[in-house]
Amino acid sequence: MSKQKKPLFRLYFLAVFSFLLPLVGLFVYAAKYHAAFFFLAVALVVNIVLLVIFHRRLSQKQSLISLQKEEYFEKTNMLKAELSNEWQTIEVFRHKIINYSQLKDLTEKLSMCLSLEETSNTLSFEVNKLFGHKDITVILYLFHSKIGELGITSSQKGQMQINLKAKNGDLFDQWVVKTLHPLLVEDANNDFRFDVDKVSSEDAREIRSVMSAPLMEGKKILGILRIDSPLPQQFTIDDLRFLRTIADLTSIAVENAQLYQRLEELAIRDGLTGLYLRRHLMGRFDEEIARSIRNKHELTFILVDLDYFKKYNDNFGHIAGDIVLRHVAEVLMEHFQQPGNLVCRYGGEEFCVLLPDCPKSKAMGLVEELRKKIQDKEIVLRRQKTSVTVSIGVANFPKDARLKEELILKADEALYKAKKGGRNCICSAS
Ligand code: GH3
Ligand code: MG
Ligand code: MG
Repeated sequence: MSKQKKPLFRLYFLAVFSFLLPLVGLFVYAAKYHAAFFFLAVALVVNIVLLVIFHRRLSQKQSLISLQKEEYFEKTNMLKAELSNEWQTIEVFRHKIINYSQLKDLTEKLSMCLSLEETSNTLSFEVNKLFGHKDITVILYLFHSKIGELGITSSQKGQMQINLKAKNGDLFDQWVVKTLHPLLVEDANNDFRFDVDKVSSEDAREIRSVMSAPLMEGKKILGILRIDSPLPQQFTIDDLRFLRTIADLTSIAVENAQLYQRLEELAIRDGLTGLYLRRHLMGRFDEEIARSIRNKHELTFILVDLDYFKKYNDNFGHIAGDIVLRHVAEVLMEHFQQPGNLVCRYGGEEFCVLLPDCPKSKAMGLVEELRKKIQDKEIVLRRQKTSVTVSIGVANFPKDARLKEELILKADEALYKAKKGGRNCICSAS
């Protein structure tokens, strides 16, 4: 306002000096000598006064307009800020929609998987695709149900499944298992929680960024889903949030796969002894014969039948009979525990063993050891010490038979011979 007053003041000053003073002089002179000049001078004064009023109005209008202009500027800026907020919200929603559709895709793919292997491979492949723009490694760890240790179930880098040496996890994984919290490490070199010298992995992989989420089943930890990168600052809080949702989906998929695995096991294993059922043996038999032909190996098939088993049921009851069966199954499993051998419950009180890559002479020695072991092992039934004996029939591929059915028949005939020969003995097919 003070700025506007100055030119106006100067104008008045100018007007006074350039017009009013001459006019006053003219007015005095004209009024004294010519009456007509008097009116002209009055008209000029009126004009000047009008001009001054008009000028004042104009400057008032101008300041009003500049005020309105400022207001409009303010409003425009506010609208711009609102618009940019709206754009940010739209961008967040767009990102969320993409994430949800990716999660939906992942859920569909995981729901198609039945086995644990299929589930973990699909998961690591798909997660790698989701974060594929970064140089990352995806690792899925699961706790082994039997030994209770953390172990790698699958690991993926780019399009490739990779084999990592650090099977039981490193400092970061131990942190997640201990705290049961998700972990975000932006730069391992500057993270006070971890001693970077101890982090160096067995695989000599450089690890700078890590994000990891526990797979939870209620309060129990099933495993860890982890992503790492050799570059720092690769993951954000939003990425970790996304990984947590994926980890929740993974927990359900892993639970289902483990359930399926257990069901499958139940379907092929005998509930009483834990041994494979005859059905499973029949499936493996053809494969093993084909392998023996390919590798030019001998294969031996053994049938084991408990002697006078009915007597145990009759004397000690059916439950005691079950104990005897379980006892013999344990001895069989322990005796033929070498990988590749297959011990099954053939039915009732009969067991069978498939020994791939086992010549008949070697098999006869093994079977004799087995017979003695069973005979010598004490069983306590209703506080009474007792023992059991078995009769065994042995048949060999290709010496005694070249077909599965024929091999079983030959072993059965040999077993029959052993029974007839007085039991607690071994007979070989001829
Ligand atoms: P052998 O020396 O001639 O083989 O005589 P055995 O008594 O062992 O044979 P037998 O075939 O006469 O009897 C088999 C018995 O096994 C009959 C059946 O009740 C019993 N058995 C079959 N399965 C089971 C089972 O799962 N549990 C129990 N406790 N007994 C079973
Ligand atoms: Mg029998
Ligand atoms: Mg019997």
